Amino acid sequence: MSNYEGQYPVYEISASKIKGNACKIYELCRANGIEPVGVVKGCSAIPQVAELLVQAGFKTLGDSRMKEIIRLRASNISAKMMLIRIPMLSEIPELVRYADSSLNSEIETIRLINKEAKAQQKIHGVILMVDKGDLREGFFDRGEVIEAAKEAEMLENIELLGIGTNLGCYGSIKPSEKNLGALCELAAAVEKEIGRKLEIISGGASTSISLLVNGLMPERINHLRIGEAIITAKDLPYLWDIEMPGVYRDPMVLKAQVIEIKCKPSYPIGEIFVDAFGNRPVYTDRGMRKRAILAVGNKDVGDASKLKPRHEGIEIIGSSSDHLILDIEEYAGDLKVGDVLEFDTFYAAMLFLCSSDCVRKAIV
Ligand SMILES: *Cc1c(COP(=O)(O)O)cnc(C)c1O
Repeated sequence: MSNYEGQYPVYEISASKIKGNACKIYELCRANGIEPVGVVKGCSAIPQVAELLVQAGFKTLGDSRMKEIIRLRASNISAKMMLIRIPMLSEIPELVRYADSSLNSEIETIRLINKEAKAQQKIHGVILMVDKGDLREGFFDRGEVIEAAKEAEMLENIELLGIGTNLGCYGSIKPSEKNLGALCELAAAVEKEIGRKLEIISGGASTSISLLVNGLMPERINHLRIGEAIITAKDLPYLWDIEMPGVYRDPMVLKAQVIEIKCKPSYPIGEIFVDAFGNRPVYTDRGMRKRAILAVGNKDVGDASKLKPRHEGIEIIGSSSDHLILDIEEYAGDLKVGDVLEFDTFYAAMLFLCSSDCVRKAIV
């Protein structure tokens, strides 16, 4: 595994595993009467990855950034595009031009989207977001969401698609029969006011799959917005103890190169103050230990604790912007400068790796 050539660090993305995961998740949703949106923001909407989701059956792709949606359009990805962050007023012209729909929680924004859509002779789809306790985006007041729905319904260039909610992001709230049931009940109230059925009731993101697999998803939820469970596929097995048969947990791998191997004390020498980021870590004295430094750091991965070494006996003990420090005392192999080590990546690390210019991306 020594490497004098090649460009490191490299983030390898397995096309067959992503496609396999996308197919599994799409089928699981469809079997439960749910049409999922494939959310690609986690991997910076790499067009080749987005294409795999489309091949798996996803009709709509979701992303939080207009810049990424525009790049997907430029790559001729044949799917509808949904902006899943509440639009900024400053991006409404681009939103209307390049996206088919968006999640919204401000009537003023929706009015301006309508105006722009009229100017561009387009119809823009809107899902009204409702806050069911996670306290990030969404209408909180029941009366306000009903009023917004009534007004949106009347706007000529807006198509009111439905309502939705987001959970497990700020407030760490689990999707449940209760909070999603309340969303369905609110949908019924909106339908009564506008005198027709809503096409979409959007019950959250990857974490809502926990309800699906346990058979607890409220009947009327017919839409989810799924990213993590396809492209990272770690939260359900590792955090929720939910086995997802046929879903690969390792669709992406980080490979980084060893630049130093030394035996050093495990406890710093001198007066301990703050680290590279102003934190005050706690160090344990384990005596002299064999360590390796890899040429990859927090600039590339955000937070090294979101990496999981693939090799037995290798432990991450710290990181700075450009260095990852490993304890390799227990590693059975003979590690040398130039060797390449592999890491599985949790969502937060994937987010940084995909958007870092310093990391080569390889679809394999
Ligand atoms: C990011 C996001 C999603 C997708 O979340 P995953 O955990 O990747 O499935 C869905 N909806 C909204 C509003 C989001 O911001």
